[in-house]
Amino acid sequence: MVEKDIVIIGGGPGGYVAAIRAAQSGGKVALVEKEELGGTCLNWGCIPTKALLRGAEILDLIEGGKDYGILAGAVSVDFAKLMARKDRAVKTLVGGVSGLMKANGIEVIRGTAKLASPQKLEVVNPKQEKEIYQARKVIIASGSVSAEIPIPGARLPGVIDSYGALALKQVPESLVVIGAGPIGLEFATVYAALGAKVTVLELLPQVLPSEDPEIASALEKTLRRFKIQSLTGIQVQKIAEGPEGRLQVTVEGGEGKAFPAQYVLMAVGRKPNVEGLGLEEAGVRFSKKGIEVNDKMETNVPGVYAIGDVTGKWLLAHYASAQGEVAAKNALGHEERMDERVVPRCVYTIPEVASVGLTEQKAAEEGYKVKVGRFPFSANGKAAILGERTGMVKIVADGKYGEILGVHIIGPHATDLIGEAVVAMRLEGTAADIGRAIHPHPTLTEAVMEAAFDVDGAAVHLPPRRKA
Ligand code: NAD
Repeated sequence: MVEKDIVIIGGGPGGYVAAIRAAQSGGKVALVEKEELGGTCLNWGCIPTKALLRGAEILDLIEGGKDYGILAGAVSVDFAKLMARKDRAVKTLVGGVSGLMKANGIEVIRGTAKLASPQKLEVVNPKQEKEIYQARKVIIASGSVSAEIPIPGARLPGVIDSYGALALKQVPESLVVIGAGPIGLEFATVYAALGAKVTVLELLPQVLPSEDPEIASALEKTLRRFKIQSLTGIQVQKIAEGPEGRLQVTVEGGEGKAFPAQYVLMAVGRKPNVEGLGLEEAGVRFSKKGIEVNDKMETNVPGVYAIGDVTGKWLLAHYASAQGEVAAKNALGHEERMDERVVPRCVYTIPEVASVGLTEQKAAEEGYKVKVGRFPFSANGKAAILGERTGMVKIVADGKYGEILGVHIIGPHATDLIGEAVVAMRLEGTAADIGRAIHPHPTLTEAVMEAAFDVDGAAVHLPPRRKA
């Protein structure tokens, strides 16, 4: 029997960050992983999708080159090469995590872990042998798996999830995506930009249902640039085998409402990985929404913590890492709590969408008298240079003190630009604080500064607002 201060189940961005933080604080740490270090994020999520998206962006740039007088010959896509590059990027980063484990003296145990009791873990290794580990503290970071909707045909060959969409051998000629969340829209963008005919079917009345409606509607328009057909308020009824080896997706409304597709991507959310962990045996409280935790990432069982997707809160890598840091510190006797106020959300479409904090509507529902500032990228110098003038920055501020309540961006590098808003909100900054900070020129960050000025109707590069 091996004894550790902390044993972590799962090596994704929640688990491996918790492991590093715990080791840095002097703990004797082991991490159990049944597949690859890096988890969904590095192997089947954030990293490989963005690597593919980069290919789609390069293609788009080359095709747009003629506007700059750059004339390329006929352009084609070597999909196998694009996939191989994606695999290399993943391998490099997974190797990096493995190196960090060694450098921090963290023991990586290969196998599937299960709680035998709150302080005892059974690990079945790849040779199917059982090993027992004693741990003073356990952190569960087992992640999530794709969800599916229970409709006829949901398991037909050709119906894929995000894992399947990362393993295609060629660009599909047609793809129907069920669900217009981040996964659905990111793959829709990649494959449409690479030449597939893509249709997105969303149940709720807008794409990215939890985002600001103004931003979502701007995104819907720009998706049309890649000829993506996105339909909202759609109830999918069934998937069946159709003519010419294609699938047929039938939606409510009967005749004529069927969409043929070579592949159907099911992107209707993910569910926490709570199975086979011995949670019942150890008395850890959980539901189908995930393991219950408090803001110290403690479960109801002393010494057992849970972080990341398995807690079912925000299913975001950076949120999992932040939870991992909190859990690791608390497990070693410190006192840390999660700051839930400022969690950025990023969607890697073309253009990108990013947001943090409250939408205008949510802020009003919470009783704030809100002031809103907007600035379009069409009035930003760097966006004109880049030839990416679509989108805007929208800032929602408290009308009384000017504190920033939310920032919503659609446009070039939105996912990088949101970082400034995250820091400002974390420091309880006001729109005037962002406005007064000198922003470099020419940069896209000036659009954030101008939107902040516009909260008080004082943007420099916009015509004066009409008096009401
Ligand atoms: P999601 O829950 O964000 O979106 C799923 C979408 O499917 C929703 O818009 C929902 O209304 C829709 N839907 C549900 N049932 C449907 C039905 N029967 N017919 C049509 N539409 C239906 O989930 P996701 O996009 O699958 O992503 C899973 C998780 O992973 C999310 O929590 C997401 O935030 C996270 N994720 C984040 C990123 C990122 O940050 N860039 C990328 C990928 C995934």
